[in-house]
Amino acid sequence: MFDQREDIRLPAESPPQLMVVIDTEEEFDWNADPDPRENAVNAMAHIGRAQDIFNEYGIRPCYVVDYPVASKPEGYRLLKQYLDAGQCEIGAHLHPWVNPPVSEPLSRSNMYPGNLPESLEREKLTNLRDTIEQNFGQAPIAYKAGRYGFGPNTSRILEDLGFTIDLSVCPPLDARGDGGPDYRRFGAEPFWFGGDRRILEIPCTGGFAGWAHGMALPLFEIAMRFKAFKAPGILARLGAVDRLMLSPEGFTPAEHIKLTRFLHGRGVRTFTWSFHSPSVVPGNTSYVQDEGELERFLASFRQYFDFFFDELGGQASSPAQMRTLMETAG
Ligand SMILES: [Zn+2]
Repeated sequence: MFDQREDIRLPAESPPQLMVVIDTEEEFDWNADPDPRENAVNAMAHIGRAQDIFNEYGIRPCYVVDYPVASKPEGYRLLKQYLDAGQCEIGAHLHPWVNPPVSEPLSRSNMYPGNLPESLEREKLTNLRDTIEQNFGQAPIAYKAGRYGFGPNTSRILEDLGFTIDLSVCPPLDARGDGGPDYRRFGAEPFWFGGDRRILEIPCTGGFAGWAHGMALPLFEIAMRFKAFKAPGILARLGAVDRLMLSPEGFTPAEHIKLTRFLHGRGVRTFTWSFHSPSVVPGNTSYVQDEGELERFLASFRQYFDFFFDELGGQASSPAQMRTLMETAG
């Protein structure tokens, strides 16, 4: 999928860089089968709850927007203001079942855009890119596949459509259960890939942390087979293996810090804080169901940013800034 891959690292003495990537999309039931009628973007009226925090810390987040957000004024109005003020970047996020033309059979596996025939994946992404250009005044250069479904044709399509950054790799996600990708063997480090026009991959920050990390995959697989005995939880309590993501959705500040310290100690210098836009309004995602959870959700942004900038000595960055930095680094 990622041909002519070439790993790239920032020098060990570089301060760690923090990016924020927001999957900016309609409110829908993540566990239900795809339904094109579920395309409301009411949460976007409240996206300022997150943007205000980024402004406070001088972070320029990258909103990867899908078709419902990019095409409806109530979806893009505030983001366009942030973009015009230089406070954010806008990328593309392809949810095929709500992105015209919807001519494929609606199924779980077709929610991963990389599973579609090349011509349809291309047509949908072209529509999305053009809609973003029309309503934001500039074409996106960063892409994140819906459900992280990067496929065998995605690289060529991105090159042809002018994308230069991909954000789809999400270790240690394993979505093979319903036809999705397996990112368990990917690390948190960026890499170049593609043919003539090189694309920078900036993965989500996630991984197996703990003293047995080298054995994490086999240990975790054995543990999952004994799930009835809560084996994954026991491994985590022993500090042996913990499967963590740098996200306020489902992970605590202590876990964000543990994962970051672990990866930083192993030389990782690029970190991505990611979440989904509907989480800024209670009731949309399983992570934020009431006002108390929303308060804790937003507080965890500040707790993590305070740690990253004050304790770890990190700096704020963005996918576009990172690409420039990596080009200079070679
Ligand atoms: Zn999404």
